[in-house]
Amino acid sequence: MKPELQKIFTVDPFKEMNPDKPGEVCNLLEGKWVQGKVFRKDLPDPLNGGVFLRVPDTNEYSKYIDNLDICPKSGLHNPLKNVERYLLLGDVCTNAAELLRDKEVSAYFAKLIQRVMPKSASQCLGEVRVTRIFLENFSGDNVRFLARGFSNPGDHLGQESSGYRWPFGSVCIIAPFNFPLEIPVLQVMGALFMGNRPLVKVDSRVSVVFEQFLRLLIHCGLPSEDLDFINCKGEVMGDLLKQSNGKIRLTQFTGSKQVANKLSVDLKGKIKIEDAGFDWKVIGPDYDPEWSKYVANQCDEDAYNASGQKCSAQSILFVHRSWEKDLLPRLADLASKRELRNLDIGPVLTWTNSQLNEHINSLLKIKGSKLLFGGQELTNHSIPSNYGSLRPTAIEIPIEELLSDKFGLVTKEVFGPFQVVVLYTDKQINLVKKSLEKITQNLTAAIVSNDVLFQQDILGSTVNGTTYTGMRARTTGAPQNHWFGPSGDPRSAGIGTREAIVSTWSSHREIIKDVGPY
Ligand code: NAD
Repeated sequence: MKPELQKIFTVDPFKEMNPDKPGEVCNLLEGKWVQGKVFRKDLPDPLNGGVFLRVPDTNEYSKYIDNLDICPKSGLHNPLKNVERYLLLGDVCTNAAELLRDKEVSAYFAKLIQRVMPKSASQCLGEVRVTRIFLENFSGDNVRFLARGFSNPGDHLGQESSGYRWPFGSVCIIAPFNFPLEIPVLQVMGALFMGNRPLVKVDSRVSVVFEQFLRLLIHCGLPSEDLDFINCKGEVMGDLLKQSNGKIRLTQFTGSKQVANKLSVDLKGKIKIEDAGFDWKVIGPDYDPEWSKYVANQCDEDAYNASGQKCSAQSILFVHRSWEKDLLPRLADLASKRELRNLDIGPVLTWTNSQLNEHINSLLKIKGSKLLFGGQELTNHSIPSNYGSLRPTAIEIPIEELLSDKFGLVTKEVFGPFQVVVLYTDKQINLVKKSLEKITQNLTAAIVSNDVLFQQDILGSTVNGTTYTGMRARTTGAPQNHWFGPSGDPRSAGIGTREAIVSTWSSHREIIKDVGPY
């Protein structure tokens, strides 16, 4: 590492993350880095089971609660207070984006991501690239423009109403393991842009990535008191939130449905969520042999990149029978080419092999179901047994059975390299639409067809927050250039774009000036 980078980063993924010299993650409190007293013992190196990180197992959190008081409910800034902070944050984005343009810095973060969340080099670099472009998008004056309001003339001279985007004040951000850089950075920056002060908790398996990025942001001019960062177990964070006595005015949660629902109750609804995805793709009736290779590649990537550990991963694939003979063999062939050595397939961090096998076996008991490919463990690997290691897998389920009492089982999100395939004919399109209606998660979706009337029919009867349509449609996409988030739920949060930031991180305030003349 160049000497100037050594001044910023404290963990070197190319060297230090090994049992002899494990990297150490710190908390950030009151603007100061705080070393842990006790460390997690249950976070092995996902590729070989060895020790590679010391992550604080914080249990004493009263100071984090006390520190919530430093941000009033009117925020650190708002359109009528400390407006220079909009410009300061624009500068931080400019500086951080410039640093991320340095090949050594982007390679550093890509490697760091890969050490904790093993996925292919291109997936890791993609995450760094999205983060950089997001920062470029909000450089210069663009933070201030996020807080753009409006005005309307009043009923009489001297009266005028103006709408403002107002912060919440002290907020909390909880992020999962699968996008260790992109999710926490984009949400934290969005929260800050709108004037909030976040307390941040990232899954301890991967929190080193955000911690090192926070060091970079502070180096780029972010005041270190602008946020607190805590490393603790999920349940401890749940307790902290409950003990905080309403001082946290909004929690933005990204993670599983179970935790999202628990927090919704505990926090009395003061929550915005990006929760589980059971994402569908419908391949329409307009089979075209020229598109078949493209469509197959996209299906393979949507289902199995990052070993299926994307909330946007293709979970269920509806294939019109006209594509069957061409597409299904292509999918099996592409899946068979994925290799552990380049992390096209790799460890599954939240499902063990026995849980995966149990799910596969219960689906294979459904009448007419069939293992299309996969179903076995990876071979020749040293992935620890508390993590899963499954070959890319697909199970076909007959459409009539999907709509039986097995619906809940078939549409359970498996956070791993696994998908359900359902074939349908023209006459069965209503069964497809019925299935889409019954799926409870409404995150991403894809309609692979250039038949405009078919697209219109499916689009008009569904609600997914991020839906691609057209022959190139995908379920996984880059969130810095379009909205990403669920729809059809009043708690939905978004990530990535101007609209996502404004709707997640600010609320509407209207000020009516009424000064006369008398
Ligand atoms: P998880 O819910 O177990 O954990 C997510 C985060 O919540 C972690 O930081 C965890 O430590 C924390 N947490 C756990 N219990 C908590 C509690 N009681 N109180 C407060 N915080 C708690 O999720 P996971 O299984 O690790 O992650 C995968 C899930 O996340 C999948 O369901 C996936 O679809 C979803 N996800 C959704 C999006 C999205 O944008 N919608 C993005 C990524 C992941």
